[in-house]
Amino acid sequence: MLRGYRASLLWFADPAQGADSIRYEEDGLLLVGPDDLGCQVVQALGDWHGLSARYPGLAVEHWPGRIIAPGFVDMHVHFPQTNVIGSPADGLLPWLENYTFPEEQRFADPDYAAEAAAFFVNELLRNGVTTALAFATSHSTSVNALFAQAQARHMRLITGLCLMDRHAPAALLNPAGSGNGAAEQSLVESEALIQRWHGQGRLGYAITPRFAPTSTDAQLRGAGELAARYPDVWIQSHVAENKDEIAWARTLFPQSRSYLATYADFGLMRKRAVYAHCIHFDDDDRALMRSTGAVAAISPTSNLFLGSGFFDYVGADRVGFGYGLASDVGGGTSFSPFHTMLAAYYVGREGHSTSGLSLTPQQLWWQHTAGAAQALGLDGVVGNLLPGCEADFVVLNPAATPLLARKTARAASLAELLFALIVLGDDRVVERTVVAQAL
Ligand SMILES: [Zn+2]
Repeated sequence: MLRGYRASLLWFADPAQGADSIRYEEDGLLLVGPDDLGCQVVQALGDWHGLSARYPGLAVEHWPGRIIAPGFVDMHVHFPQTNVIGSPADGLLPWLENYTFPEEQRFADPDYAAEAAAFFVNELLRNGVTTALAFATSHSTSVNALFAQAQARHMRLITGLCLMDRHAPAALLNPAGSGNGAAEQSLVESEALIQRWHGQGRLGYAITPRFAPTSTDAQLRGAGELAARYPDVWIQSHVAENKDEIAWARTLFPQSRSYLATYADFGLMRKRAVYAHCIHFDDDDRALMRSTGAVAAISPTSNLFLGSGFFDYVGADRVGFGYGLASDVGGGTSFSPFHTMLAAYYVGREGHSTSGLSLTPQQLWWQHTAGAAQALGLDGVVGNLLPGCEADFVVLNPAATPLLARKTARAASLAELLFALIVLGDDRVVERTVVAQAL
């Protein structure tokens, strides 16, 4: 059974062309219906008058003055750091020690993890995020809690057991098992979680070394072997965020050419490998990203908050590796994709440590929707409204606040309209979030 949604429509007509293929239909119709497997997908979209005439008797919801846009894709967010957001600290390493590690220890408790997962998923959806690649903790309870909650809400979500077998408080390290050391046991647990959750409905698994310094060689090697055995499973970690972190990683893995190369040396760079931050890179690192197909999750609110540095867009594009946007809550300061896009604009403008550029509103929007989906290997699945895409979308109100109403009413172009939303928008703009319901 088909359902129609009438409003203004925003989408990318040709993902191979990227941000430049953005389209806007002032009075549009989005047609949604089940695919062969019963998942709600986009069946067609176009202008209201042309398309609606072909579907007499169609049930239509009409949202005048609203914009239907693809649900946002958050490429890197920490579910157990929801309570850590906005914690004051003197840079990354003290922030981990004083706030993040103590909070993450609480996720060994299934009730604590379940309550936090419900809040987290609700907060993502309330902000218009319909796909997320998320960290959990080193406790299987936290992974099970988050998957269960996402499944209940039909949300597309990827997460995995955090691998850390050294250099963290004992309560956060992966435990040893019967007859197994901690490294081996953490990989046995990861594989069991892959088999339980990966590919169940809209859920996906990510092999998740926290970052190289908190894993032994044995754990990283085992993670790489697991990634080779399950090539359609994701990999997620952090790299080159902060200069102290890089110096530490270099002393722990002196045999690798660079911090990033450590991951390649353990078999952890390939398609569907997502590295948060990727700030302090040289061109050899960038070339390694490109040649392996690994991608960057740019986390601008986090990088500005912790003073980590500025992602070099010019360098990334010169060498040509994939990337998209991420909130990185709780180092990041907001779940809102609008705040993240604005922070990415600031990062792009920074012209003292990089050459600096003005990202267009279309580019910013692309990086948080179809571009992020492409980086995750989910192009044609989410992040867009082209026929065949899962019907994940947001209904945006461009007049959600008095200032937004005043500003967007004066927009003389699509770029001006989108930029007003990026600069002035937040969760108040997101009137509804619709996720594709499996029947
Ligand atoms: Zn992170």
